[in-house]
Amino acid sequence: GMTRITVLGSTNMDLVAYVTTAPRSGETVTGHEFRTIPGGKGANQAVAAARAGAEVAMIGAVGTDEFGDRLRATLEHSGVDIDLLRTTEGPSGTAHIVVDRDGANAIVVIPGANGSVTSLSHADRAMIAEARSLLIQLELPMSAVLEGAEAARRNGVRTILTPAPARPLPPELLAVTDLLVPNEHEAATLTGISGDPERAAAALLAHVPEVVITLGARGCLYASRAQPEPVAVLAPPVTAVDTTGAGDTFVGALAVALAEGRPMMDALAWASSAAALSVQRPGAATSMPYRAEIDA
Ligand code: ATP
Repeated sequence: GMTRITVLGSTNMDLVAYVTTAPRSGETVTGHEFRTIPGGKGANQAVAAARAGAEVAMIGAVGTDEFGDRLRATLEHSGVDIDLLRTTEGPSGTAHIVVDRDGANAIVVIPGANGSVTSLSHADRAMIAEARSLLIQLELPMSAVLEGAEAARRNGVRTILTPAPARPLPPELLAVTDLLVPNEHEAATLTGISGDPERAAAALLAHVPEVVITLGARGCLYASRAQPEPVAVLAPPVTAVDTTGAGDTFVGALAVALAEGRPMMDALAWASSAAALSVQRPGAATSMPYRAEIDA
């Protein structure tokens, strides 16, 4: 059968206002466009992995508002199994995003239903135990993230952690993480080392056996306890139109390739191709490539 991946994470509706210059406190500006875009790091990684060719199950929660229906439909449409996606009375998670003329953004995330996922059910733990990999991020309550990672560890399931949004991590979570995938900013938050990803990668190996630091258009760096000297993987040179969700596309594809047993360097090259395809198209989930496109 197909490779199985379980994602334990957030679903958010992104509410995006496009403006020339973002308003300061107390100021009102007129923008030129508004969009509602299904997102959340968990849901984005689930869609990326499903499109990359895995059988994906999503554990999380949406609310009883109309955003909840649309978030469910988006996951279902991408072939993600949502039997374990709860519906919690109240609003869905939302991300309120202001994007200015330079593409810079300011974001407020309100967890909504995501905040209700404080512990896992027996069925959640069984779904994790059956997977080849568990994908986690930091947009659900830490108690559930930790419970999921511990269930994965007990069952020999590889845990891949995206430490976003950036924050210091409890040592119990790092202790059950197999592969950590921070971007440059998150790596700096975790290590206190900025501007030197090689040194940050080496420092992170004190906490986890393997680490990939993503570096945007500059590609990524891989280091492991078995081979501590960081290895760089370049990103294909492409013209980026929208990098939203590049990191989630990268992680989703990487998880699929690794779960299929491909060697790390092959898996990183394949994930880099997937992310490079996604940045050439607008949107997050909508821009994620399918397996045949990545292979090509
Ligand atoms: P985002 O928050 O935009 O989803 P991120 O900050 O989590 O992204 P990045 O390090 O910016 O993660 O990007 C992840 C990966 O996507 C990179 O390692 C690279 O492979 C690919 N990527 C990002 N930007 C570009 C680009 N301009 N050209 C080619 N590949 C890119």
